[in-house]
Amino acid sequence: MAKIRTRFAPSPTGFMHVGNLRTALFAYLAAKSQQGTFVLRIEDTDRERLVEGAEQVIYQTLKTVGLTHDEGPDIGGAYAPYVQSERKDSYLPYAEQLVKEGKAYYCFCSKERLDSLHDEHGLGGYDRHCRDLPQEEVQKLLEAGMPYVIRQKMPVEGSTSFDDAVFGHITIENKEIEDQILLKADGYPTYNFANVIDDHLMDINCVIRGSEYLTSTPKYSRLYEAFGWEVPQYLHLPLIMGKNEDGSVSKLSKRHGSTSFAGLQAEGYLAEAITNYIALLGWSPKGNQEIFSLAELVENFSVDGISKSPATFDYDKLTWMNGEYIKNMDNESFLKHAMPYYQEIFGTETKDGDVLQSILQKRITKFSEIPAILSFFKTLPDYSAEFFINKKSKTNLENSPAMIEEAIAVLENLPNWELNTIHDSLIALAEKLVVKNGTLLWPVRIAAAGTLVTPGGAMEILLLLGKEESLNRLKLALTKF
Ligand code: GLU
Repeated sequence: MAKIRTRFAPSPTGFMHVGNLRTALFAYLAAKSQQGTFVLRIEDTDRERLVEGAEQVIYQTLKTVGLTHDEGPDIGGAYAPYVQSERKDSYLPYAEQLVKEGKAYYCFCSKERLDSLHDEHGLGGYDRHCRDLPQEEVQKLLEAGMPYVIRQKMPVEGSTSFDDAVFGHITIENKEIEDQILLKADGYPTYNFANVIDDHLMDINCVIRGSEYLTSTPKYSRLYEAFGWEVPQYLHLPLIMGKNEDGSVSKLSKRHGSTSFAGLQAEGYLAEAITNYIALLGWSPKGNQEIFSLAELVENFSVDGISKSPATFDYDKLTWMNGEYIKNMDNESFLKHAMPYYQEIFGTETKDGDVLQSILQKRITKFSEIPAILSFFKTLPDYSAEFFINKKSKTNLENSPAMIEEAIAVLENLPNWELNTIHDSLIALAEKLVVKNGTLLWPVRIAAAGTLVTPGGAMEILLLLGKEESLNRLKLALTKF
């Protein structure tokens, strides 16, 4: 058996959609889990849909998530070129070959005529008007320079079947298959034609793509057959749905949330978490493990784990997964991601990054949550004295002012503003006052933060606020009673 060769064949028409990235990932995993080759091919024959910069987005995204291709436009390979517009001249001879063999024909129908057909039937199907034009007429029109397309002659009776590794054996009535265009009037091949020619010429033996291509696949099979080429293994991936507010699901779209890799990244999701989550959209690992590095995905991936039922993109699950990735980060990466957000709050000098890390790392599911969680450092909220009342800590409006006053006296005299010093002095104070630690620390924390829920405790908050601001806030608290 030949080694598996898969390809990712995006059209540079915009952002990298979640569905595209999943196709890339599965094509990569299928190849790498079987020591095969993963090819990148840029499909840019639809010149009207090209978007400037989109090709760079493809390279950049694959690089960021670590889907390294073995062959492609930027690195070359034995089957170069890997951009369809650079292969433009190679398609015509194949189309002409089919014309010569009576399997395809020139079609001179004008746009107006085709549009009127759409109007009449409302189906958009071609009525095969030029399929049986006499040879002399074809010749005359060609010589007169009439614009033409080349269409494939599809059988009008019987059916076409193919096998898909996920969706099984599929049969379509031939009367539903249009005489598809192979070569357009601008000389470019259609996507349908070019992808078959290239998959064949590039020895792609496993074609992986989204299930929206399932209905076109009989057309591709008919092309392989017309040329007498071996049909590759087809593997279509299930649809990706989004959850609607009323609990129903529909095809994933912007109203469900970000649908592109860049959009998800901008929302604070990490590349590794996005990749890990996307791997589970349609593929189920054997055990219960859900967190997989790319290398672990390669190790565990198997085509039998792919399901044909639609997969639902669950943003909450992705958020949870992102939090898991954050929890497992080492200090250096955590600080690298968190620092820009710290700077928003504390200015450029953040010497206590590690204290911040200790109070945030287990708590956040996205780095972008940091400014909101830390906002009380920047501006003291206008809080209510009720916050000082806490049953468990045995604090109330009567004992809190005294606790705060005692804390001020101790903190004012500290020789330095370090976590240990602040900690030890407050614990000693609680002991001296013969109160629970909480009875002292609750009012101090509320006074320092002005909010009930805080990352970290009183001591970390005092440290991060600095001595002067801490004392100001504690003194201000005394005016609340
Ligand atoms: N160029 C097509 C797309 O971007 C590729 C489909 C395929 O993989 O064959 O959707």
